[in-house]
Amino acid sequence: MSDDSVLVAGAGPVGLLTALGLARSGIRVTVLESEPAIVNSPRAIVYHWSVLDGLERLGILEDAKRIGLPKQDYMYRIFRTGESICWSLAALADHTAHPYNIHLGQNRLAEVALEHLRRLPGTSVLWNTRVTGLVQDASGVTVQASTPEGPRELRAGWVVGADGARSAVRQALGLEFAGTTWPERFVATNVRYDFQRLGLALATLMIDPQYGAIIVKIDNSGLWRCTYCEDASLPEEGVLERMPAYFRAILEPGTGYELMQYSPYRMHQRAAERFRVGRVVLAGDAAHVTNPTGGLGLTSGMFDCFVLYEALAATIHGEIGDEVLDRYSDERRRIFWERASPQACENKRLIYHSRDPARLEEDLQTLRRFATDKDFVIERSMFTKRLESPSLLRRNGA
Ligand SMILES: Cc1cc2nc3c(=O)[nH]c(=O)nc-3n(C[C@H](O)[C@H](O)[C@H](O)COP(=O)(O)OP(=O)(O)OC[C@H]3O[C@@H](n4cnc5c(N)ncnc54)[C@H](O)[C@@H]3O)c2cc1C
Repeated sequence: MSDDSVLVAGAGPVGLLTALGLARSGIRVTVLESEPAIVNSPRAIVYHWSVLDGLERLGILEDAKRIGLPKQDYMYRIFRTGESICWSLAALADHTAHPYNIHLGQNRLAEVALEHLRRLPGTSVLWNTRVTGLVQDASGVTVQASTPEGPRELRAGWVVGADGARSAVRQALGLEFAGTTWPERFVATNVRYDFQRLGLALATLMIDPQYGAIIVKIDNSGLWRCTYCEDASLPEEGVLERMPAYFRAILEPGTGYELMQYSPYRMHQRAAERFRVGRVVLAGDAAHVTNPTGGLGLTSGMFDCFVLYEALAATIHGEIGDEVLDRYSDERRRIFWERASPQACENKRLIYHSRDPARLEEDLQTLRRFATDKDFVIERSMFTKRLESPSLLRRNGA
């Protein structure tokens, strides 16, 4: 491989979207994925309205919309009192061409990106290829990988590390991943149960210190995602045994649910000290991880991707100096620590830890404005747009 090609580590959504963006910009790109196929554990499900322009620029919005579930309605449900506070993203109609979110498993979004990537010349995906290390010099990067056939070396001009929270690329760069790990565990479940019979919206944030949950309709086949929280000191192998007690508490008595998939997760607020070292750049969970309350994790990763593929392609085509990648690193790291991470922590506190009734009442007084004040809905819904960076090809976003 010569120096104008890119190796992307990780065929998760960020890796595949970045590879697609690069390939559409005329860059030869190879994706290295440790697993034999796209990983389908239950994780991101909600794509906020604010990322849809970016998916459109990548040419995949229509497909995502067709196989996903576009939705506008939202609800806070206060579990103990049954109070519901409802609002709709229809309030954004004058502000965006896409005033809705899309619900779609992140594995399915990754499949859409892969399908589009495969149609482009100069692209390949190497499955069962685990990045184990890398060395770089002035003209490129040599990546070491393990494969079922044995160790392998690959060479490219640039590497994008999109290999998730435990990123081997980040570790090979010797970068710190400073931050905190929460003492709780989230349990993400995909279940068949008609949550609308409980009067819930298609996306409901259920506030309760014991039974708090994010409950989201996945598709029209009756599949829903319910993510609840438990103390991480409880043994992980007991998650399945404890689960029926949780669902008994939140579902209508006498009604059954069918568990289709589940996965326990530890949660962190962490970011790499830098997102770029020489010819290697980090994106998505490899660069930063947050607890998923409010769906800001992949949202941040997508906003990394949208500016990164453009900046890296322009660097490779000689249209801009590579210092643009330092700006990428500074800008995306700043937005993570100043906006995404604090908001995700605040969301987690409200949904899962509202133990103080006086504080909860204070919060509710603000949240009730969602139901009555369109400007408030617009202002709050604009938050995820503030996680976006303007194109780095234009100085100061001008
Ligand atoms: C329960 C839960 C719900 C969530 N819900 C949302 C949501 O609704 N909205 C949202 O925005 N975010 C959400 N998130 C966060 C979201 O899942 C992550 O931010 C997202 O997965 C990051 O994508 P990624 O491509 O960066 O990393 P990953 O999805 O982790 O993909 C990394 C890929 O790299 C591969 N890989 C790993 N190591 C190597 C290696 N050494 N060599 C080669 N390949 C490797 C992995 O197999 C994987 O395919 C949620 C997370 C959880 C846990």
